[in-house]
This record gives sequence, structure tokens and C-alpha cells, in this order.
Amino acid sequence: MGATLNPPISRRNWRPIVRQLTKALGKDSVIQRQEELLVYECDGLTSYRQRPAIVVLPCTTAEVAAAVEICDRNQIPFVARGAGTGLSGGALPIEDCVLIVTARMNRILQVDLVNQRVTVQPGVINNWVTQAVSGAGFYYAPDPSSQSVCSVGGNVAENSGGVHCLKYGVTTNHVLGLKLVLPDGQIVEVGGGPERPGYDLTGLFVGSEGTLGIATEITLNLLKAPEAIHVLLADFTSVEAAGATVSDIISAGIIPAGMEMMDNFSINAVEDVVQTDCYPRDAEAILLIEVDGLGPEVAASCDRITALCQQNGARHVTTATQPEDRLRLWKGRKAAFAAMGKLSPDYYVQDGVIPRTQLPHVLKQIAALGEHHGYRVANVFHAGDGNLHPLILYNNAIPGQLEAVEALGGDILKLCVQVGGSISGEHGIGADKRCYMSAMFSAADLETMQWVRQAFNPQGLANPTKLFPTPRTCGEAGRAAVAATPEFAEIDRF
Ligand SMILES: Cc1cc2nc3c(=O)[nH]c(=O)nc-3n(C[C@H](O)[C@H](O)[C@H](O)COP(=O)(O)OP(=O)(O)OC[C@H]3O[C@@H](n4cnc5c(N)ncnc54)[C@H](O)[C@@H]3O)c2cc1C
Repeated sequence: MGATLNPPISRRNWRPIVRQLTKALGKDSVIQRQEELLVYECDGLTSYRQRPAIVVLPCTTAEVAAAVEICDRNQIPFVARGAGTGLSGGALPIEDCVLIVTARMNRILQVDLVNQRVTVQPGVINNWVTQAVSGAGFYYAPDPSSQSVCSVGGNVAENSGGVHCLKYGVTTNHVLGLKLVLPDGQIVEVGGGPERPGYDLTGLFVGSEGTLGIATEITLNLLKAPEAIHVLLADFTSVEAAGATVSDIISAGIIPAGMEMMDNFSINAVEDVVQTDCYPRDAEAILLIEVDGLGPEVAASCDRITALCQQNGARHVTTATQPEDRLRLWKGRKAAFAAMGKLSPDYYVQDGVIPRTQLPHVLKQIAALGEHHGYRVANVFHAGDGNLHPLILYNNAIPGQLEAVEALGGDILKLCVQVGGSISGEHGIGADKRCYMSAMFSAADLETMQWVRQAFNPQGLANPTKLFPTPRTCGEAGRAAVAATPEFAEIDRF
């Protein structure tokens, strides 16, 4: 649950550690002044704050390995951080830790267009990858809405998704190989070549939220840019009708590149702030549907989608084929989170997944939960994947509101699990949702996952306290610790 923690009053003598880190990385790469450390005390989940003891800014794999090895030798926990845009507190420092920030590891190391792959350092920003290859007609598909600022390393750790992941899959479907620094400082490589027998260690690392080590080189798959792209905007007088259209399109065998929904509250928020003049303010819901592929195939799919929208009562269906018109339709969706920030001092975004067929029912229930708790909830989300992002508006300056919106967020996650969904689609578990893991997984499931973590991270130094309800496992001891954790008692409410 949310917490604003005080700066650590450390009992450790940090001088020898700073000396070792400075010797290995250089003076300019080690930050220890309190006012400079402040910048790193939270990620995008700003309700949790904790200042790290030291921040290091390595430039190479060798420097990451040296920093990690110093942590291992001195038994100091460390947390990796990319751009700090994570929304689940994954890069939140823990008390007395070294924060290893990859911002200076920002080089594209190799572009291999013949084999449609690119190798990057982890601090490279997501959309730099497409910018580097678009001239040659290629692109990198996973496109989180934060893609102009988030790092590829963070995307790998969170297994990030985005608008185009409906058709093309999330980050794990595009990572071909990794160079990793393990939690004892060893450097290893996984994947990288053609199909390999044995365990898929690349797949295991993607989505591990910094708990298995630090990715220092990432090889990504590139796609050829499609011949044609059309974007449709359909507006509906009921959320149910929009939800039913989403299911009908997929059932018809059409997989759009992306299919996003916005409800009336978010439409008006976006129009107030961005003024796209595209989204009808009186619509209860709009769908933005992007279709790509070969020209005739795209045209035929658009006709079929238009007919399905109309069958479900869409009032208008607008199609944009030219790049500037498509951008105009997408502009409001891309600015939706920022628009909430203008309407309310704070917002808390949740990230749950539900079966697509449950969209109308769940959206109704979310509205009812919002009313019950007394908070406004806007819905902007990846409808095609059933990946909801309820945005709960609140004011953190008013005592009690943060706790109340977290309780509302918890009830929404509980609802997602009840209808057969998940507690996270793409933002990860981090510090925010670890107490809900037991709502989805049995004790045996969690224990199995913890054994994997311990195989890579036996000392528990890599991003401890994240992802799992308890820091360690091991049978009885682990279960006793779970039972003694107040957050776990919360789960008993499920
Ligand atoms: C406005 C906004 C919109 C967003 N939209 C989306 C969206 O559409 N889809 C989506 O999936 N997410 C979205 N996010 C969430 C966030 O941008 C992603 O989770 C992103 O991948 C985080 O990248 P980062 O570089 O900021 O990582 P950070 O926040 O710095 O770190 C995230 C996690 O990755 C770990 N980590 C970072 N680098 C490494 C590394 N090199 N090796 C191992 N572990 C590492 C950290 O320890 C932490 O656990 C959004 C966030 C915001 C603020």
C-alpha cells in the first residue's frame, strides 16, 4: 500500500562503499548528495518514495558488473532504474540500497537490417529504435504510450505493451537476446541466435522486474513497415455497444493493429485539454481502431469493421488514411493520461486485464465502485487486449484520499480476477501490487516462482521487496512470514 517514507537514517558506514564505486566507475558516476538523490526517490507511482543511499550511473556492461559485484561483496541491495516511468513502483529504491541507473547506457550498438534486428544498450529510449530504422522501412512494434521517454531496459523488465501489441505481441515477443549482469556480478548472454533448444532464459528474464539481474545489451526484432495503415474512429451512445463491437471484430477473425476505448469522462477530459475536435463530447464511448497490412486487405477489413460498428449502433465511423489525419485521431488518446493530470492534482492508474467479453459488465461495475467509494474514474484502455487502465482522480494533499483510492484500485483488481482476468497487463507488480499476487496465484505457484528467483538471486540483493508478497520463500518459514505480513491480511478479504 502507498507510503511516503523518510530519508534513510543509515547505520552503515557508506564511505568505503563510495570509495569502491568511485574507483570502479569514476567520480562523476557516483551520486551521494541528498539533494541530488531526491530526483531518484520515486518512479511514476509517486505516492511511494524512498531515497536511495547511493546512485551510480554506469556507461558500460563492465561498469554495471563492477557496481553489482561491489554490492554483492558488501551485501548491499541494489535496484535497477531506466527512465523511472514505471507505474508500479518497480524502480522505487529500498532503504540503504544502491540505485543503478542506466540513463547513460544510451547507445544503439548495432543495426542489422538484413537480419531485421538491432542491439541496444538498456538506456536507449523506446522510440529511438524506430527512429533509427524507419528510413529503411522498418520499425520496432512494442509502443507503450510513454515511448518517447521510457527505456528499452525498463520495457524488458516490465514486459511492456502498447497500442500495437494486440496484433504484434508485447515486448517478450520481440526480444531475441540479452546480455545480463547477474546479481553476483557475473556477465552472461542468453538467446541471441536462431531457435535454441532448452530453457527459454530470455523469456524468463523478460518481465522479471529487475529481480533476476540487470540487462545491459538487448537485441530486438524489427518489423517491416506495413504497406497501408488506416485508423477508424467510431462513437457510441453506450459503453456496452462499444464493448460488444470489440468482441465482434475479433470474432470476425480481424486482428486490428490496435483497438483502444475511451469513455465519456476521458473524452471530455482530453477535449478540454488537448482540443482535438475529433471526439464527440456526447459519446458514451469511442473506439479507435488501427488496421494495417497490404492495401486491399486493409480496405476490406475497414469495410467489415465499419459494418460491425454500425450493427452495434455506432453513430459515426470516420476513417483516416493519411499520416496527418491518423495522427489527429490518435492525438487525444496519446495525451489522455496527461489530460487527467490537468483535471485533478493526482491520479492513480490501475492496470488489470479481463476477458474481452466481460468489458460491458466490468466497466459498469467499475463505475459503480467509483460511486461507492466517492471518486471519479476515467477509462482509457487497450480494449482489444481487455487491458483496462482505470484512472482514479484524487487529491493527495487531502489526508486519507490516497488510502481510499488504493482501496478502490484493489477492489477493481479483485473484480478483474473474479471475471477470469489478471492483476496486471503491462505495468508490472512492483511494490504497488505485490500484496495482490496471492489473489491470482496459489502458495505453491508463488513458491515455485521464488525458487526461480533464488536460483538467479540467491542473496536476494536484486530489487528485493518487489513482485512477491514476501521477500523470500522456503516452505514453512516463508508461509509464516506471509501470515505475519499485514498486507497479506488484506488479501484475505478476497
Ligand atoms: C504516461 C505513461 C504512460 C504509460 N503507458 C504505458 C503503456 O502504454 N504500456 C506499458 O506497458 N507501460 C506504460 N507505462 C509504464 C512505463 O512507462 C513502462 O513500464 C516502461 O517500460 C518503464 O520503463 P522505464 O525505463 O521508465 O523503467 P523504470 O521505471 O526505470 O523501471 C521499471 C522496472 O524495470 C527495472 N529495470 C529498469 N531497467 C532495467 C534493466 N536494464 N535490467 C533489469 N531491470 C531493469 C526496474 O528495476 C523496475 O523494476 C506508462 C507510464 C506512463 C508514465
